[in-house]
This record gives sequence, structure tokens and C-alpha cells, in this order.
Amino acid sequence: MMPYRPEPFTDFGNESEESRFKQALAQVRTQLGREYPLFIANKTVDTKRRILSVNPSNFNQVVGSVSLADAVLAEQAIQTAYSAYATWSGVSLESRADCLFRAAAELRRRKHEFSAWLMVEAGKVRAEADGETAEAIDFMEYYGRQMLQLAQRGERELIGMDGERNRLDYLGLGVGIIIAPWNFPLAILAGMTTAALVAGNTVVVKPSSLTPVIAIKFVELLRNAGIPAEAVQLLPGSGKEIGQYLTAHPLTRFISFTGSKDVGLHLHELSSRQVPGQRWLKRFVGELGGKDAIIVDRDADLEQAAQGIVASAFGYSGQKCSACSRAIVHRDAYDAVLKRCSELAEQLMVEDVQDPSCDMGPVINQSAYESILGYIHIAKSEGRITAGGSAARGDGWFIRPTVVADADPGSRIMQEEIFGPVLAFTKADDFEDALRIANFSDYGLTGSVYTRNRKNIERARDSFAVGNLYINRKCTGAIVGVHPFGGFNLSGTDSKAGGPDYLQLFTQPKLTSERL
Ligand code: GLU
Repeated sequence: MMPYRPEPFTDFGNESEESRFKQALAQVRTQLGREYPLFIANKTVDTKRRILSVNPSNFNQVVGSVSLADAVLAEQAIQTAYSAYATWSGVSLESRADCLFRAAAELRRRKHEFSAWLMVEAGKVRAEADGETAEAIDFMEYYGRQMLQLAQRGERELIGMDGERNRLDYLGLGVGIIIAPWNFPLAILAGMTTAALVAGNTVVVKPSSLTPVIAIKFVELLRNAGIPAEAVQLLPGSGKEIGQYLTAHPLTRFISFTGSKDVGLHLHELSSRQVPGQRWLKRFVGELGGKDAIIVDRDADLEQAAQGIVASAFGYSGQKCSACSRAIVHRDAYDAVLKRCSELAEQLMVEDVQDPSCDMGPVINQSAYESILGYIHIAKSEGRITAGGSAARGDGWFIRPTVVADADPGSRIMQEEIFGPVLAFTKADDFEDALRIANFSDYGLTGSVYTRNRKNIERARDSFAVGNLYINRKCTGAIVGVHPFGGFNLSGTDSKAGGPDYLQLFTQPKLTSERL
């Protein structure tokens, strides 16, 4: 088998690629507004209550109307997944890995189509959508191979003993609940779901109510690749109604959650309570928020730093848990970096992502829009606005990229996750002061340092409390297998998605020792 290599990003400078993409987008446009029933326990279910998925770039456009599951359907889904576990966990791990490779191949063939759905349903600009589809392919190629390696490791790494044969088998756990976010509705959903499946588990997947259509398309693709319908139950529904029900269920063996800190803490607590009929400790794997900082040292390449800060802060309108929301700059470089970042932010075109000149799209929905504008209002009293500072025109949830100068490290805009295009600047006295400010946070997901000073690079490696530390580069855009992803402290369980230890979280190793 070919070793794993990350999927290359599409070269849109290539005319035929560009025209293939346009065709895919046009094709997706003809499919907007369709109705999607549920498929639970091997039956198609059309519910009266529906979720309307709306294009965040154009709130007059319905992307799809999806049946909404309730607790009764959730019960059927989990029972089905539970009975399917016996069969699916008995399928050889090579065959399970093969399903992932087939799904990856199909997704590669339909890459532009999926990216086009990401543009209309999640509001991603073309390059971000293309990167996300590539990441979904990567997760499947990588986890398929990781499972094969994990199986070999079980025998290879034990110490031999005369007169005995010993082996360690990595078995599945049971039924997993996958609660996926809207900001990477394809890649993160695909990664969480297929890691659990390839390890031998069956899953009930709850996509975000804001992005159910892309989830439906992806689960269809998995089933076409040979994963039994019973093993992967998709349940679009509200977090309050479905997410909590599934988490608290006695048949649930583990919860894999990516989303906000508040919801994550609540589900973590729920999952720790034993309920009648429950015969195990539930495992909780959580990727929560971030309040990520970029430190700029006095001797850094300031242009490179400003470009990196702006890309990290405003890519996908700042709606990544890896996004830079705090720029901490050495006093000698502060004015120059602030000025350059403000200029670059003002140059970004904010509009419908289908517009070829678009640099930055909308935020996801009305409640995000209102909450972010609320933070911009707070920023006006906590600092000084040097770029943006208001909504932008259009029929979508558009907000101008906003830069706030002179924020106090303890202020709300420096402490709370805004999850939007708002970047706050703070001046540091020296590198130690910058590190102290950066670590003054409940979170610890990503961070970058721009410096030419070797000693300070090593200082950051020792003391910058983040799961993903980047030196002289942006703090977003982790690549599967290259930059395993996960954070410290309230950013989650640091589970390192896309890394060599991830699959073990969804397995239980069993030792068999045979006397010869
Ligand atoms: N893995 C993504 C990155 O490195 C971020 C994932 C997220 O926002 O949840 O940018």
C-alpha cells in the first residue's frame, strides 16, 4: 500500500480545474432547497418538524430542509447501533480500513461537489472549502492506515517470554456518540466518525443543526463505500433534545464531541454519571474552544508576522477554534505590526463566497452575528478600533474584519472566545511578558511565535501552554498526520486528531497470554 500523503490542494490557477469546479457549483445550485428524510434503523422517516438549512451568504436561499429527529428516534438509532456492534466489530480490521479507503477515493472523485456544498451551507470561500474536503480525505486515508499499524503493534511491542505466546488486540468499545460542529461540518465530522468506525465501533452521529445537508451527503458516501447502514446512524436534531439524551443513555460507551466549551463541560459531566443499566465508565473525548495568541518578538520578520496574524484571525471569518484572536506584540514592533494588520484587514473583501473577488465570507447565522457585534461593541470601550468595527452590507451575516488595539490582557475581548472576525492587540514589555500574557487564558489550543531568536523559540517550546505551537507560521490549518491537533486546559482532552495516538481513544486493548 502507498504510504499516507496529505491530499494536495486544488490549483485553481489551472483552467480546467477551475471550470470543473464551476460546473460542480452550478450542479449543486440546482439541488438547493430539496427535502431530506431521515434514515434510521433501516427505515426512511419523514418527520413533520424540520430543520431549514440556510445559506449564510444569502439568507433568502434554503440549502435544504431536513427532517428533525426527536428522543423516540434517538432511542431507535441507539438500539440499532447497539445491535449492529456485534456484527461490525466482527468484521476484520482490514475490511473496515478498506471501507475508509473506498470512501476516500469516492470523495476525491467528488471533491468539488462537496466543496461546493461547503460554500453554500457553511459559508466557506472556495480555498477554505477545498482545504476542508482535502482534510476529510486525509482523515480516512490516515486512520485506515493507522488501524492496520495499531493491529501489528499489538504483537510487535510486547516483550517475548519463553513458553508463552502473548498478544495485545485493540478492540472496539461499543456504541459511540459523535457530536460534530458546524465549522468543519465535513472534515471534523468525517474524522470523528471514521476513526470510531474503523476501530470497530458503531456510531450515532449528531451533526450540527446548522449544517445537516453536508452530513447527509457524507454518510451516504460512507454507506456506498460498504459501511453497513446500521453501523452509522445519522440523527439531525437539537443538542438539547438529542445530544443530551444520547450522552446520558445507558448503552452509550463513549462520546466524541467537538464544539463549545460550555456544551462540552455539560456533556462531560453528564457522561460521568452512571445511569441504571450502564455497565461501563463512559469515555469522553472533547475538542472545545480556543483563545489563541500569536506572539511577535522585536526581531521578527514583521511583514511575515502581520500576514500570518491576518490569515489566522480572519480565515473563515475567525470561526475556527484555532483562530488567532490575540496578537501580543513586543513594544518595539507593536505600532508597525498593528498598522500593517489593520491595513490588511481593511483590504479584505467581505461578500457572498460565490463572488470571485470574495476574501472573507459571512458568519454562520443570526445568533453568531449578534453575539459578535455585541463583542465589537464591548471592544469599543475595552480598546481602540483600528479596522472594521461594524457589520458589512449584503443579504448574509457579514461582519467586517475588526482589529482592536491596546486591549488589557484581562479584558473580556482578550479572555472570551468570540468565534468571529475580531482580533485584539496587546503590547508586551519583553518576550517573557508576552509569554505570560499568552498563558493568561483558560484555553490552550494553538499559538504561534514570530521571532528570529533561537533562545526565545526554545523558551516558547518549554513554556507556551498550548497543544499546537507554531513557530514563524500561522496558527491555523493543521494537516492530518503532519500536525496532530488538540489543546490543553479547557480547550479539551488534547486528543490529537489526525495523530498517531488518536485511534487508541476508541479502542480497548485486550491481552491474551497462552502457555505453550
Ligand atoms: N484543525 C483546524 C485548524 O488547524 C481547526 C479545527 C477547528 O476549528 O475545530 O485550523
